Amino acid sequence: MDNALLLDDDDGRVAALRRLDVLDTAVEEPFEKIVTLVRTVLAVPIATVTLVDRDRQWFKARRGMEQSETPRVVSFCTHTIQQRDPLIIENALDDPRFAESPLVVGPPYVRSYAGIPLRTPEGYNVGALCAMDTRPRRFSPADIAILSNFANIVCDELELRLIAQVDHLTGALTRRGFVDQAQREMERTLRYGRASSLIMIDVDHFKRVNDTYGHSIGDQVLKQIASLAETTLRPCDLFGRLGGEEFALLMPETSGAAALVVAERLRNTIAEHPMTLHGGGTIHVTASFGVAELSASFNTLTAWLERADTMLYAAKSGGRNRTQLAEPM
Ligand code: GH3
Ligand code: MG
Ligand code: MG
Repeated sequence: MDNALLLDDDDGRVAALRRLDVLDTAVEEPFEKIVTLVRTVLAVPIATVTLVDRDRQWFKARRGMEQSETPRVVSFCTHTIQQRDPLIIENALDDPRFAESPLVVGPPYVRSYAGIPLRTPEGYNVGALCAMDTRPRRFSPADIAILSNFANIVCDELELRLIAQVDHLTGALTRRGFVDQAQREMERTLRYGRASSLIMIDVDHFKRVNDTYGHSIGDQVLKQIASLAETTLRPCDLFGRLGGEEFALLMPETSGAAALVVAERLRNTIAEHPMTLHGGGTIHVTASFGVAELSASFNTLTAWLERADTMLYAAKSGGRNRTQLAEPM
């Protein structure tokens, strides 16, 4: 039997979307591949993985669409997610819901649209996989079947990325993987009265790297930074990518002073290492570090992470390419 489809519960829907923890995240390979395939297989100029937030639609992946998000009111997908079946528009100019839409009267001049709802296991439509054309067209049943199959893959990928313990780009632990393991390590350390230290790392002016060389070079730089970090690890250390260009290193059995030495060594290694670009050539990047030793006064992992993060922030405001060690608490 079909699960309930919770079409009228927008609060629940938005909560389900937020739980996926995908809004405003960086480009990810599986979704890129899917929009590329949709565009090729259906021969459309525009394909998107669209997530419908409370007031906006945000594109997890897009081809042929300049904007990274648009207001929800102008979106096609806000209609798609209100139904169980695909939404198909042969000519937007003939449809009063869309004829005046900025996406129709302005770039990218959408004329036809096919959107398959992206449905979570709980039964919420959180977005749509969309194929769009700049001319009117019919989508055949075969087109819709293909698009529906791709939409199922998108839904699977959204679930997979949520349970992933390893980050596919860098091989570091994901935030979730890091937090799970760090929590266990923290309990053990406090129970046995041992030392343990946390290092937070954030790449300096990384936005500039992306802006200057492009996102895919940015990705290659992150990969190289992660492998430099990994060469400094002992087997029991935990290394995670907490978000975009931010990493954390948890070192069991390590005092703050010893972790400071590790952080400084890694900071120098990164600063001196020429990062190779695919097309030839190299660039240099730096990173800032915050270090905090575990103290019994931290009741939660969050408190410990915040302490290291405060130090990282101090290293940034102190001029970047620096390490800041927290005072013992
Ligand atoms: P700061 O020195 O203050 O840290 O400056 P910043 O530019 O590094 O900091 P900001 O947080 O403003 O920018 C981080 C940038 O990292 C913005 C975002 O586009 C980029 N980014 C996040 N995740 C990824 C990713 O997976 N790949 C690439 N290439 N870029 C990413
Ligand atoms: Mg940064
Ligand atoms: Mg950052």
